[in-house]
Amino acid sequence: MAAGGKAGDDAGGNKLNRIALEIRGTLLWDEPMHLHTSLKTGGPADLYAIPEDAADLQVLLQCLKDQNIPWMAVGRGYNLLVRDKGIRGAVISLQRIDRIELISPPPAGEGQGGGRIRAEAGAENLALVRFAQEQGLGGIGFISGIPGTVGGAIKMNAGAYGEGILGRTECLTLLSDGEIRDFCITELNYGYRHLDLKPAEIVLAAIFRLDEREPLHTEEEIRKDLELRRSKHNVGFPSAGSFFKNPAGQAAWRLIDAAGMRGFMVGGAQVSEVHSNFLVNRGGATAEDFLELSDILKKAVLSISGVTLVEEVRIVGEE
Ligand SMILES: Cc1cc2nc3c(=O)[nH]c(=O)nc-3n(C[C@H](O)[C@H](O)[C@H](O)COP(=O)(O)OP(=O)(O)OC[C@H]3O[C@@H](n4cnc5c(N)ncnc54)[C@H](O)[C@@H]3O)c2cc1C
Repeated sequence: MAAGGKAGDDAGGNKLNRIALEIRGTLLWDEPMHLHTSLKTGGPADLYAIPEDAADLQVLLQCLKDQNIPWMAVGRGYNLLVRDKGIRGAVISLQRIDRIELISPPPAGEGQGGGRIRAEAGAENLALVRFAQEQGLGGIGFISGIPGTVGGAIKMNAGAYGEGILGRTECLTLLSDGEIRDFCITELNYGYRHLDLKPAEIVLAAIFRLDEREPLHTEEEIRKDLELRRSKHNVGFPSAGSFFKNPAGQAAWRLIDAAGMRGFMVGGAQVSEVHSNFLVNRGGATAEDFLELSDILKKAVLSISGVTLVEEVRIVGEE
C-alpha cells in the first residue's frame, strides 16, 4: 500500500464516494478479491478501480493521495495471495492501459539489428509476443505462456528457462508520486523475480529491444513454450504458478519433494501432486490455509535441507 490511512469506515466511505465523481473508469466497491486472483482467495478490497487511461489513473491517484487512502497496483492477480480480511484502501488494475506499438522497425536487410516495441502495463504478455511476431521481431517467446500483464511481469521480473523479462527491457515509464518519468533499465535495481520500486511507483509502460526474427521462428518459440507448460504446469486446479522462489542453484520443488511434502494438504490448500512448487486450491481454500501450508513447508524444508524458502507470490491484505 502506498499511503497511510483506512478507507473502510464511514468517513472512508464518503471519501470513496467523492472519488466516483472524478473517475471515468470502473469503480467496484467492497469487491471480493477472490474474483481477481488465480488462487481464488481473498476478502474484499474497499475499492477495486479500473482507470480508463493514464490520465484517469493520475486523477485517481491524486484523489487517493488527497484523502490519504492507501492503494496498490495490480495486473491480473496471477501472483497474488490476498488475505481473508481483504484489502483496506484501493486496488488499482491497469488492465485498460494496454496499448502496444512499434517505435522503431527492424532495419531492412537480413540479420540487421532488431527493433523496439513499447507496451503499456496492462497489455497481456502473449499479446506482446504476438505483436512482436507480426513486426518480424522476437526473442521474448519465453513469456508467451506466463499468465498476466506486462506491468506484473516487469515488477516480478517474470521469466522462464533462465531468462527474465527485464533482460529484454530497455527502459521503463514509471508513474512516481504523480509524475511520469522514464528510466533506463540500468538505473534500476533488479534480480531474480524482483524489481525494486518505491511504494508509490507504478509501471506505466516498458520499451523492449527485440531481435529480428522470422514470424515462423517466433511461432515455433510460442508453440514450444505453450506445449512445455501444458505438460509441466497443467496442475488442474487454481494456482499462482511457483509459490516459492528457487533458491540459488536449487529447485524449490525438489526441496519440497525431499521433505516428503508432495500432496500435503491444509484445509483446501494442497501441494500439487503434479508439480510440488505449485500450491493449489482444491476447492474452498482460504488464504489462511495457504499461509499455514506455506509455513509448514518452509519448516519441513529447513529441517531436511537447511534451506529457507522464500515466497515468490506476493502476500497482501489486512493481517
Ligand atoms: C499457471 C501459472 C504459471 C506461471 N508461470 C510463471 C513462470 O513461468 N514464470 C514466472 O515468472 N511467473 C509465472 N507465474 C506467475 C505470474 O504469472 C507472474 O508473476 C506474472 O508476471 C504476474 O502478472 P500479473 O499481471 O497477474 O501481476 P499481479 O499478480 O497482479 O501482480 C504481481 C505483483 O506486481 C505488482 N504489479 C502489477 N502490476 C503493476 C504495475 N503496473 N506497477 C507496479 N506494480 C505492479 C503487484 O502489486 C504485485 O506485487 C505463473 C502463474 C500461474 C498461475
